Amino acid sequence: MQPVIGITSTLVKINEFSEGVYVHQDYHRAIVAAGGLPLVLPLTDPDSFSRLIDLCDGVIFSGGEDVDPQQYGAEPQQHLGPIHPQRDRVEVAAVRYTIGAGKPLLAICRGAQVLNVALGGTLYQDLPSEYPGALQHSQKAARGVDTHWVELAEGSYLHRIFGQTQIRVNSLHHQAIRQAAAGLVVTGTASDGVIEAVEAPGCVFTIGVQWHPESMAERDPLMQALFREFVDQSRAAKKNRLSAPLTG
Ligand code: MN
Repeated sequence: MQPVIGITSTLVKINEFSEGVYVHQDYHRAIVAAGGLPLVLPLTDPDSFSRLIDLCDGVIFSGGEDVDPQQYGAEPQQHLGPIHPQRDRVEVAAVRYTIGAGKPLLAICRGAQVLNVALGGTLYQDLPSEYPGALQHSQKAARGVDTHWVELAEGSYLHRIFGQTQIRVNSLHHQAIRQAAAGLVVTGTASDGVIEAVEAPGCVFTIGVQWHPESMAERDPLMQALFREFVDQSRAAKKNRLSAPLTG
């Protein structure tokens, strides 16, 4: 039984005549390789997006635009990148809906930032200008290449999945979590102290990572293990829902 894994998407304009749904193909490739059935979720409105999540056994909040600082009560700084307020509104609601539904959630890059903001946390809008001593987090190397270390918290879910506390990751972000939300625990940091992973303890699989495991998974067994665990937990959560006694 392949669990259905929803993937959030954005809009792209290709030319004057073509505009449409976009998500990097590495996401669905990593899901398929881990035994899941990928389903790209078009950006609709918060209500109908909840119906789309009803169709899914687990949800990936994918990478993309900067988060509108209005979402966490901040003013836009000089180096804020392009934002997509509609996507923010839909995804902030969708994070809460997914967690409320008890479905596994894997939040990647922008997704990890949206997860944090949806639960009440804040962000750095631009590391190079707001975080003295920051590493190069917008790597010039190809997307799948690992460029910096992340130290994982002893005993965290990610530590259990990877079986080690130091991992190599790629880095394609200029924003990052500033203040982690009260419901999240920081479980991964870069050597400059930038938050690279958060988890919601006591929930089903609810993990945010600042790197892009989907683009490392083709060659990296650790990132394959992350997707396998996420897909396995999505399958298990589905089974639990189906076997729960009917009420009302
Ligand atoms: Mn990084």
